[in-house]
Amino acid sequence: MSDIQIVNAPMGVEGSGFFATSLDKAVGLARANSLWPLPFATSCCGIEFMATMASHYDLSRFGAERLSFSPRQADLLMVMGTIAKKMAPVLRQVYLQMAEPRWVMAVGACASSGGIFDTYSVLQGIDEVIPVDVYVPGCPPRPEAIIDGFMNIQELVKTETVRRRNEPKYQELLAKYGIQ
Ligand code: SF4
Repeated sequence: MSDIQIVNAPMGVEGSGFFATSLDKAVGLARANSLWPLPFATSCCGIEFMATMASHYDLSRFGAERLSFSPRQADLLMVMGTIAKKMAPVLRQVYLQMAEPRWVMAVGACASSGGIFDTYSVLQGIDEVIPVDVYVPGCPPRPEAIIDGFMNIQELVKTETVRRRNEPKYQELLAKYGIQ
């Protein structure tokens, strides 16, 4: 008979023990400070985003200088501008092509609620087709407001578990949008 004794192992990555919570925090901190945004800009709010990226406001100070124009290499979708209903399936497709974990910011009144374009051809908020994590008000929002929205995303990212995708609340949200 073997002398080796099997003792109760500490909780691993599956549980909520010390290791899992510390890992969550470390991964959250790393993710929050190395987000790769995909700018989905269709109109004027996109101009404010250009100012946000330029040297004066410099979003790279927050670790987000690497913009991605491929959804496969992006984890933050920043939607800026008026989204026509004909554009909605494209936006949804871009969102679906992003790998998990992924976050979404609706920047400005048009992306958040249709803004002044209360008309048949304009989507009255991107949350009609994809889940949104942070809304930034303004028409257009100033770069300070965009940065504030970005920092709110960072706070979300820091506090989420490594396996966000498996959380029942998140699953429910995706199901609401018909996303498997
Ligand atoms: Fe243009 Fe205002 Fe709409 Fe932004 S919110 S896209 S500034 S109309």
